[in-house]
Amino acid sequence: MSNSIQTPYNFTAVETAIISQNFSTHNDWVKIVFNPIKQNIITHLRAQQNNLCCYCKYQLGFDIKQVDIEHIIPKSEYPNFTFKSLNLALSCPACNTKKSTKPVLYNANANYPADGTNFKIVHAHYDDYSNHIDIIQNCLFVAKTTKGSETITFCELFRLSTVEERAKAYQNIGPNILEQLVGELTNPHTQNKQQLIDIIKNAIK
Ligand SMILES: [Zn+2]
Repeated sequence: MSNSIQTPYNFTAVETAIISQNFSTHNDWVKIVFNPIKQNIITHLRAQQNNLCCYCKYQLGFDIKQVDIEHIIPKSEYPNFTFKSLNLALSCPACNTKKSTKPVLYNANANYPADGTNFKIVHAHYDDYSNHIDIIQNCLFVAKTTKGSETITFCELFRLSTVEERAKAYQNIGPNILEQLVGELTNPHTQNKQQLIDIIKNAIK
Protein backbone atom coordinates (compact mmCIF):
# COMPACT_ATOMS: atom_id res chain seq x y z
CA MET A 1 0.00 0.00 0.00
CA SER A 2 1.39 3.35 -1.00
CA ASN A 3 1.60 6.11 1.58
CA SER A 4 1.26 8.98 -0.87
CA ILE A 5 -1.15 9.93 -3.64
CA GLN A 6 0.20 8.45 -6.88
CA THR A 7 -2.14 10.12 -9.36
CA PRO A 8 -3.51 13.64 -8.84
CA TYR A 9 -7.06 14.37 -10.02
CA ASN A 10 -7.22 15.10 -13.74
CA PHE A 11 -9.81 17.79 -14.57
CA THR A 12 -11.84 17.15 -17.71
CA ALA A 13 -12.04 19.80 -20.43
CA VAL A 14 -15.62 20.58 -19.35
CA GLU A 15 -14.57 20.96 -15.71
CA THR A 16 -11.66 23.20 -16.66
CA ALA A 17 -14.08 25.42 -18.62
CA ILE A 18 -16.51 25.60 -15.66
CA ILE A 19 -13.65 26.57 -13.36
CA SER A 20 -12.33 29.29 -15.65
CA GLN A 21 -15.83 30.74 -16.10
CA ASN A 22 -16.79 30.73 -12.41
CA PHE A 23 -13.64 31.12 -10.38
CA SER A 24 -11.88 34.37 -9.59
CA THR A 25 -11.25 34.45 -5.83
CA HIS A 26 -10.83 31.69 -3.24
CA ASN A 27 -14.28 32.56 -1.87
CA ASP A 28 -15.74 31.15 -5.09
CA TRP A 29 -14.78 27.66 -3.89
CA VAL A 30 -18.20 27.30 -2.20
CA LYS A 31 -20.22 28.07 -5.35
CA ILE A 32 -22.66 25.22 -6.03
CA VAL A 33 -21.62 25.11 -9.67
CA PHE A 34 -18.46 23.34 -8.44
CA ASN A 35 -20.27 20.62 -6.47
CA PRO A 36 -20.16 17.93 -9.19
CA ILE A 37 -16.45 18.63 -9.72
CA LYS A 38 -15.80 18.32 -5.99
CA GLN A 39 -17.68 15.03 -5.94
CA ASN A 40 -15.43 13.71 -8.73
CA ILE A 41 -12.33 14.89 -6.86
CA ILE A 42 -13.50 13.14 -3.69
CA THR A 43 -14.25 9.88 -5.49
CA HIS A 44 -10.83 9.91 -7.18
CA LEU A 45 -8.88 10.79 -4.02
CA ARG A 46 -10.73 8.31 -1.80
CA ALA A 47 -9.31 5.51 -3.92
CA GLN A 48 -5.86 7.11 -4.04
CA GLN A 49 -5.76 7.57 -0.26
CA ASN A 50 -7.33 4.22 0.65
CA ASN A 51 -10.10 6.31 2.22
CA LEU A 52 -7.79 7.66 4.92
CA CYS A 53 -7.33 11.25 6.08
CA CYS A 54 -4.02 12.55 4.69
CA TYR A 55 -2.91 13.85 8.13
CA CYS A 56 -4.25 11.54 10.86
CA LYS A 57 -4.82 8.43 8.69
CA TYR A 58 -8.23 7.77 10.21
CA GLN A 59 -10.95 6.33 7.99
CA LEU A 60 -12.95 9.01 6.20
CA GLY A 61 -16.71 8.84 6.57
CA PHE A 62 -18.99 8.64 3.55
CA ASP A 63 -21.28 11.48 4.52
CA ILE A 64 -20.29 14.75 2.82
CA LYS A 65 -19.79 16.28 6.29
CA GLN A 66 -17.20 13.63 7.17
CA VAL A 67 -14.72 14.39 4.41
CA ASP A 68 -13.08 17.65 3.34
CA ILE A 69 -11.17 18.55 0.22
CA GLU A 70 -8.11 19.93 1.89
CA HIS A 71 -5.99 22.64 0.26
CA ILE A 72 -2.48 21.78 1.34
CA ILE A 73 -1.37 25.36 0.67
CA PRO A 74 -4.27 27.43 2.03
CA LYS A 75 -6.42 28.82 -0.79
CA SER A 76 -6.86 32.11 1.08
CA GLU A 77 -3.12 32.66 0.82
CA TYR A 78 -2.69 31.31 -2.73
CA PRO A 79 -6.05 31.56 -4.56
CA ASN A 80 -4.44 30.38 -7.79
CA PHE A 81 -3.82 26.96 -6.17
CA THR A 82 -7.51 26.47 -5.29
CA PHE A 83 -8.07 24.04 -8.17
CA LYS A 84 -4.48 22.87 -8.49
CA SER A 85 -4.61 19.06 -8.42
CA LEU A 86 -1.32 18.70 -6.57
CA ASN A 87 -2.67 20.98 -3.85
CA LEU A 88 -5.73 18.84 -3.17
CA ALA A 89 -6.06 15.93 -0.77
CA LEU A 90 -8.81 14.51 1.42
CA SER A 91 -8.75 15.11 5.14
CA CYS A 92 -11.13 14.60 8.01
CA PRO A 93 -12.88 17.82 9.09
CA ALA A 94 -10.98 17.80 12.42
CA CYS A 95 -7.56 17.93 10.74
CA ASN A 96 -8.75 20.49 8.22
CA THR A 97 -10.10 22.72 10.99
CA LYS A 98 -7.00 22.43 13.15
CA LYS A 99 -4.63 23.05 10.24
CA SER A 100 -6.80 25.96 9.09
CA THR A 101 -4.82 28.67 7.26
CA LYS A 102 -1.45 28.16 8.94
CA PRO A 103 1.29 28.86 6.37
CA VAL A 104 2.85 25.58 5.19
CA LEU A 105 5.65 26.90 2.97
CA TYR A 106 9.11 27.85 4.20
CA ASN A 107 9.59 30.25 1.28
CA ALA A 108 6.87 32.08 -0.64
CA ASN A 109 6.54 30.67 -4.11
CA ALA A 110 4.60 31.98 -7.11
CA ASN A 111 4.63 28.60 -8.83
CA TYR A 112 3.45 25.40 -7.21
CA PRO A 113 6.49 23.64 -5.67
CA ALA A 114 7.68 20.66 -7.71
CA ASP A 115 8.58 18.58 -4.65
CA GLY A 116 8.08 18.47 -0.89
CA THR A 117 11.22 20.28 0.26
CA ASN A 118 9.58 23.70 0.67
CA PHE A 119 6.74 22.26 2.78
CA LYS A 120 6.82 22.31 6.58
CA ILE A 121 4.28 19.48 6.77
CA VAL A 122 3.87 16.07 5.16
CA HIS A 123 2.61 16.63 1.60
CA ALA A 124 0.03 14.03 0.57
CA HIS A 125 1.39 13.82 -2.99
CA TYR A 126 5.11 14.30 -2.46
CA ASP A 127 5.93 12.65 0.85
CA ASP A 128 5.70 9.10 2.10
CA TYR A 129 3.83 9.54 5.40
CA SER A 130 5.51 6.57 7.06
CA ASN A 131 8.93 8.18 6.63
CA HIS A 132 7.80 11.06 8.85
CA ILE A 133 5.27 9.75 11.39
CA ASP A 134 4.68 6.47 13.20
CA ILE A 135 1.17 5.80 14.47
CA ILE A 136 1.14 3.55 17.50
CA GLN A 137 -2.02 1.62 18.37
CA ASN A 138 -3.94 3.79 15.89
CA CYS A 139 -3.90 6.79 18.19
CA LEU A 140 -0.45 7.91 19.28
CA PHE A 141 1.51 9.97 16.75
CA VAL A 142 5.27 9.85 16.98
CA ALA A 143 7.34 12.15 14.77
CA LYS A 144 10.32 10.65 12.95
CA THR A 145 11.36 13.94 11.28
CA THR A 146 10.87 17.68 11.68
CA LYS A 147 8.23 17.48 8.98
CA GLY A 148 6.42 14.80 10.95
CA SER A 149 6.63 16.91 14.09
CA GLU A 150 5.26 19.99 12.30
CA THR A 151 2.37 17.95 10.89
CA ILE A 152 1.47 16.70 14.37
CA THR A 153 1.55 20.29 15.66
CA PHE A 154 -0.32 21.82 12.69
CA CYS A 155 -3.20 19.34 12.90
CA GLU A 156 -3.01 18.88 16.69
CA LEU A 157 -2.86 15.14 16.26
CA PHE A 158 -2.57 14.54 19.99
CA ARG A 159 -6.29 14.21 20.55
CA LEU A 160 -7.31 13.08 23.97
CA SER A 161 -10.53 11.39 22.87
CA THR A 162 -8.78 8.86 20.64
CA VAL A 163 -6.06 8.03 23.14
CA GLU A 164 -8.66 7.77 25.88
CA GLU A 165 -10.76 5.38 23.85
CA ARG A 166 -7.84 3.00 23.43
CA ALA A 167 -6.69 3.28 27.02
CA LYS A 168 -10.14 2.72 28.50
CA ALA A 169 -10.31 -0.59 26.74
CA TYR A 170 -7.26 -1.73 28.62
CA GLN A 171 -8.02 -0.12 31.96
CA ASN A 172 -4.36 0.44 32.56
CA ILE A 173 -4.47 4.10 33.27
CA GLY A 174 -7.03 6.48 34.72
CA PRO A 175 -8.65 9.11 32.49
CA ASN A 176 -7.44 12.02 34.63
CA ILE A 177 -3.83 10.98 34.39
CA LEU A 178 -4.24 10.38 30.69
CA GLU A 179 -5.73 13.83 30.18
CA GLN A 180 -2.74 15.31 31.96
CA LEU A 181 -0.26 13.30 29.86
CA VAL A 182 -1.87 14.16 26.54
CA GLY A 183 -2.14 17.78 27.66
CA GLU A 184 1.57 17.79 28.34
CA LEU A 185 2.24 16.40 24.87
CA THR A 186 0.34 19.25 23.24
CA ASN A 187 2.35 21.83 25.15
CA PRO A 188 5.12 23.06 22.81
CA HIS A 189 7.41 23.74 25.79
CA THR A 190 7.35 20.20 27.12
CA GLN A 191 10.89 18.82 27.05
CA ASN A 192 10.42 15.13 27.82
CA LYS A 193 7.98 14.25 25.05
CA GLN A 194 9.57 10.87 24.36
CA GLN A 195 9.15 9.90 28.01
CA LEU A 196 5.49 10.90 27.91
CA ILE A 197 4.98 8.97 24.70
CA ASP A 198 6.52 5.89 26.33
CA ILE A 199 4.17 6.14 29.31
CA ILE A 200 1.10 6.48 27.10
CA LYS A 201 2.38 3.76 24.79
CA ASN A 202 2.57 1.37 27.74
CA ALA A 203 -0.91 2.34 28.87
CA ILE A 204 -2.56 1.60 25.55
CA LYS A 205 -0.72 -1.46 24.33
ZN1 LIG B 1 -7.51 13.69 10.03
